[in-house]
Amino acid sequence: MTPSLEIFVRVGGAALVFAAMALWEWRAPRRRLEAGRRPRWPGNLGILLIDIVAVRLLVPTAAVGVAVIAAQKGWGLFASAGVPYWAAFVIGVIALDLIIYTQHYVFHHVPLLWRLHRMHHADIDIDVTTGVRFHPLEILISMAIKIVFVVALGVPAAAVVAFEVLLNATSMFNHSNVALPRWLDRTARWIVVTPQMHQVHHSIVRQETDSNFGFNLPWWDRLFGTYRAEPAAGEDKIVIGLPIFRDVSESRITRLITQPFRSDEKRAR
Ligand SMILES: [Zn+2]
Ligand SMILES: [Zn+2]
Repeated sequence: MTPSLEIFVRVGGAALVFAAMALWEWRAPRRRLEAGRRPRWPGNLGILLIDIVAVRLLVPTAAVGVAVIAAQKGWGLFASAGVPYWAAFVIGVIALDLIIYTQHYVFHHVPLLWRLHRMHHADIDIDVTTGVRFHPLEILISMAIKIVFVVALGVPAAAVVAFEVLLNATSMFNHSNVALPRWLDRTARWIVVTPQMHQVHHSIVRQETDSNFGFNLPWWDRLFGTYRAEPAAGEDKIVIGLPIFRDVSESRITRLITQPFRSDEKRAR
C-alpha cells in the first residue's frame, strides 16, 4: 500500500464514519446535550485538525513505514516464530487493541499522563466530536508506543492501517450521542464497545471514569475486571465530564491545549 493510498483510506474512512454518526445523533439523539454543539464543536474539531496536521498524518505513516521496514528485515516476534501472514495480521490487530487498552488504563493512573488524557474527559457532553478530542501530546505518545510494539511484534503494515481505521471509526461510534436498542446494545457489547458502554467511562463519578477502558474490543475490560455495565445514577441521570474544567469557556481551543498545564482552581484531579 502506497503512503498516499494509505492516507486516503484512513482519512476517507474516518470522514464517512464521522458524517454518518453526526447525522444519526442529530436525527435521533440519546440525550439532550448540556452545553450543545455550538460552544464545543469548534474546539473539538480544532483539536482534531491540530492532531491531523501535527501527528495523525505524519506519525501513523511513519508507523506503517516502520512496519514495512520491519517486514523487509524480518524483525519482530511473528517473523522469528514463523507465524503465517494472515495470523500475524489478525493477532497484530488484536494485540494493538490490547496495547491501547493498557495504555488507556495507564493514562488514568499515572498523574502526569492523566493531565494529558483528562482533556478528553473534561468535555461536559459526549458526542461524535468527543471521539476525536485527544490532546496532541497524548496522540504523539500513543503513536510512539504503537511503533515500538509494531517493530517488536513485526505487525504487518496492512494490519497497522486496518487498526488505525478501526480505532478512528469505533472511537467516533462509541462516543456518539446515539442509542442502540437495549437488546442490540447488550448483544453488540460482546464484540464491540458500544456508545452506552463507553458513556460510563465519561461519568463524573471517579470509579465510573476508571472503568470501561476499551475502545474497540470489549473483552479486555471483562477479562481484567474493569467492566461496568451502567452508571449508578442510571443512563438518564449520568453527569458527563469531570468535577474540574466545567465552565463552557473550557471548550475553547486555547483552553483545551493548555488544560494539561493548568492546575484546576477547584480540585487537582
Ligand atoms: Zn479515559
Ligand atoms: Zn472517551
